Amino acid sequence: MTQHGGFAALEAWRSRVEGTVALVPTMGALHEGHRQLIARAKQVADAVAVSVFVNPLQFGPDEDFDRYPRDLEADLAICRTDNVDFVFAPTLDEMYPREPQVTVSAGRMGTVFEGAARPGHFDGVLTVVTKLFHLARPDTAVFGQKDAQQLALVERLVTDLDLGVRIDAVPIVRDHDGLALSSRNRYLSAAERATALALPAAIDAARSEQSATEAQDAARRTLANAERQHPEFSVDYATLVERATFAECPPGFRGDAVLVIAARVGATRLIDNATLSFV
Ligand code: AMP
Repeated sequence: MTQHGGFAALEAWRSRVEGTVALVPTMGALHEGHRQLIARAKQVADAVAVSVFVNPLQFGPDEDFDRYPRDLEADLAICRTDNVDFVFAPTLDEMYPREPQVTVSAGRMGTVFEGAARPGHFDGVLTVVTKLFHLARPDTAVFGQKDAQQLALVERLVTDLDLGVRIDAVPIVRDHDGLALSSRNRYLSAAERATALALPAAIDAARSEQSATEAQDAARRTLANAERQHPEFSVDYATLVERATFAECPPGFRGDAVLVIAARVGATRLIDNATLSFV
């Protein structure tokens, strides 16, 4: 049963059934990565709700809000195939009947890496996530490790503001060539897509090193080579950070770290990451 009936349909279900709900927040243009989140949601709750909303608050003025891929019919078909119970696809007007005055601030962790490149992005993300949590009142919300900084910030949102939602994280889903799946991959030409493989290649290079410093250096070398070969490729950052804080790992770091990478291929900005352990 896929209901495309807004949040009221879920409320009506909840008043009939004593079941748990897992929410999968998305911006639509659903792909296999989103489907893995749905699969996880099905495992952990009695009912699965997917939200499809391209949130203007998280886009900068020069970003791709207008051209971001939107295909609700295809998204609904996927949700039906995957036995999603509820789909919320609110309009802009439903979510923001007027410009919000009160919003959520992501704090310092929201100003580094993706937050430095996209000022205000994480405030916009956390504001819409908070609204979706209040509208859907899920027991669990499922997010992808693909957006590692977003995931870390949502975890802080929930603990710092006592939102009482369990956060479940799903590993990155990659295409057969290693590129992390993303709705933005459809912007890439065939040549740009080949260039973009420098991101997973940098992760592979880092994985074969023993120390944090060597791993970061290896990733940066791979990316610098790609920059030399492809003038349309430019790296924003490739840095090892501590997972919970996104603070840069000091030299000699031991423990679990996340290698976060962002790069531009032509007009398209891509991000990737991997968790690496150093003993
Ligand atoms: P988006 O629609 O891009 O806002 O993504 C919605 C959710 O899907 C976020 O929690 C993302 O981290 C997750 N997601 C997107 N791409 C992937 C992927 N390739 N693997 C795992 N999760 C993903």
